[in-house]
Amino acid sequence: MRRNALYYQMTGAKGEFLNDFRRLCCPGQYMKKGMVNIMFCDSAKVFIKSGKGGDGHVSFRRELYVPAGGPDGGDGGRGGDIIFEVEDGLNTLTDFRHVRKYVATSGQEGGKRRCHGADGEDLVIKVPEGTVIKDFETGKVIADMSGENRREVILKGGKGGLGNMHYATSTMQAPKYAQPGQPAQELWVQLELKVIADVGLVGFPNVGKSTLLSRVSNARPKIANYHFTTLNPHLGVVDLGDGAGFVMADIPGLIEGASEGVGLGHDFLRHIERTRVLIHVVDAASTEGRNPIDDIQAINRELEAYNPQLSQKPQVIAANKTDAIYVDEETPDPVEALKAKFEPKGIKVFPISAVSGQGVKELLYYVNELLKTVESTPVIFEREFDLSAINVASNLPYTVEKDEDGIYVVEGPRIEKMLGYTNLESEKGFDFFQKFLKENGILDQLEKAGIQEGDTVRMYGLVFDYYK
Ligand code: GDP
Ligand code: MG
Repeated sequence: MRRNALYYQMTGAKGEFLNDFRRLCCPGQYMKKGMVNIMFCDSAKVFIKSGKGGDGHVSFRRELYVPAGGPDGGDGGRGGDIIFEVEDGLNTLTDFRHVRKYVATSGQEGGKRRCHGADGEDLVIKVPEGTVIKDFETGKVIADMSGENRREVILKGGKGGLGNMHYATSTMQAPKYAQPGQPAQELWVQLELKVIADVGLVGFPNVGKSTLLSRVSNARPKIANYHFTTLNPHLGVVDLGDGAGFVMADIPGLIEGASEGVGLGHDFLRHIERTRVLIHVVDAASTEGRNPIDDIQAINRELEAYNPQLSQKPQVIAANKTDAIYVDEETPDPVEALKAKFEPKGIKVFPISAVSGQGVKELLYYVNELLKTVESTPVIFEREFDLSAINVASNLPYTVEKDEDGIYVVEGPRIEKMLGYTNLESEKGFDFFQKFLKENGILDQLEKAGIQEGDTVRMYGLVFDYYK
């Protein structure tokens, strides 16, 4: 039965397709629906961390004969940012396999005599255009370094803390606290280089799509592979010289029923959605008994059924395997039949042999011209990841636990230090303490641990009841 044969071919194609994508994508990562034709050919996982803000300083003026000078602790410096920048001429992410940690420097602590701590230095990470930065854990997009976006701050350095010189009031002349610098932010990110195919090869299995693509990657007109695609015959860069060229994708396994979601049908069709020109590859010699005209019509029906706009894309027919065509009085020339059928509709037919290379050059130049008539809409990813949600608290080590008596115990070295220099008796000191709990996520953690109004909290020597 024809259907069965198709199913068989489909499953064969499916395995092939998935394998190629696995090779393309970073190991362990799966293609997300909706971005099928964007191939991430190169990827790297790196750790980024901004600089922490320097702490404000606590000190008092010491002058000869002045026993108790005013507070003169200076502010901490700001921590460096992590910035990504597009660098022209870079086209792989290979460098990121050698250096995996990127840490901006921290701001320095404020000093006595109102000395401002030095700011940390920003760290600028250079990436090729088209690099998509994603949160490693969730896979959500943080930034797409494409088009207009050539420079973006990804992690902000912590702000420096205010020195105690800012905290003197008429009632509190000798404040013994200063603001700690804001914590650094850190994140594991996945960098992925996207390449979008301009031209899609469609056709039934075994018509010669892969052969054509590999052919155009070796021959003259010079056809270069991105070196990261050498393992991957499904995406190639066709270089026609003088800056002309395009990216061609072999879209295997488009079969009947695809538009109804049979097999990976929808994924294939989505893949085609963003290409600008389609090349129908057919076996003009019918070496396996296929009828090339029927094949093109079947595929166009699938395209139409899935999305009528797909069938509006400019098309070209590559009548392949012409080296194997046998013509006599009884068997008419299949290329002529294709031309008679499709050229009146504006679809040009190119007789080729992917094996010998005959006719391929003409096809490529024609496709290149055709591409010029089609607008390209760059695919830019929107941010999905909320950078403000980076858990600052995780950068300030502390624990929140409920002990046997139902008391919520908060512990951590920075908290102990903060309590040491904070005068909770003063209004400003208490405000500061409140802010500290909030800004460092401690209140959130207490809520998460299930704290209720009136419950007791203990932080080192300090015990208080919790009210919002
Ligand atoms: P795909 O499934 O469409 O990718 O088809 P392949 O590229 O794998 O080719 C299927 C078979 O057709 C292979 O055995 C190829 O050697 C053969 N083939 C491809 N192109 C030509 C051609 O131009 N002439 C001949 N005679 N055979 C070809
Ligand atoms: Mg193939």
